[in-house]
Amino acid sequence: MGKSLLLATKNQGKIREFKALLENTGWFVSSLKDFPGVPVVEEKGSSFLENALEKARIAAMVSGRVALADDSGLEVDALGGAPGVRSARWGGEGLSDEERNRLLLDRLEGIPMEKRGARFRCVIAMVTPDSKEYTVEGICEGYIAFEPKGESGFGYDPVFFLPSHNRTMAQLLPEEKNKISHRAKALEKIKKVLLEHLEACT
Ligand code: IMP
Repeated sequence: MGKSLLLATKNQGKIREFKALLENTGWFVSSLKDFPGVPVVEEKGSSFLENALEKARIAAMVSGRVALADDSGLEVDALGGAPGVRSARWGGEGLSDEERNRLLLDRLEGIPMEKRGARFRCVIAMVTPDSKEYTVEGICEGYIAFEPKGESGFGYDPVFFLPSHNRTMAQLLPEEKNKISHRAKALEKIKKVLLEHLEACT
């Protein structure tokens, strides 16, 4: 029997990604969908790290299990790192992804490509019931395009241009994105931490 792990999210896409990555590792993975008693924490911190840690701490404390939580977003150099931790709500709660991308392109109007540098950042926190805390980070560097392109992915993917692929993130196949994304990089790192933890516990 493996160890039990709680993903502090109800986001089906994230649950799927985490479960795929942790297949055959000896961890039994559940999520907040299986734990209605664990509150969904509002992201109020001023960094991805604070938000991820807070979510993992509460989930570990309430469930008594090892808990994993993530927080991610887009940082644009010409906007001083915005939207950053506000990525999901930037420009107003009611905006669609498309409207948010349009707003971003408007804010960068007249700025040349070399000054449109940006990155997706993902932090994953792991907290154990005895309050051991681990954090890892994954980064994917790129540029904000001049116009949206591609249908795949979500959020800011259509305006995030990858010089290495000469395409936007939304023009990549899901399996291509999953090799280079900020989340994939952070997931690979946390997998190592988890496997070491499992070994230390057995
Ligand atoms: P959260 O990690 O679920 O809080 O996501 C924060 C926000 O960052 C999302 O709503 C998106 O706007 C943006 N974001 C995070 N990861 C990605 C990605 O892989 N592609 C596009 N947008 C992303």
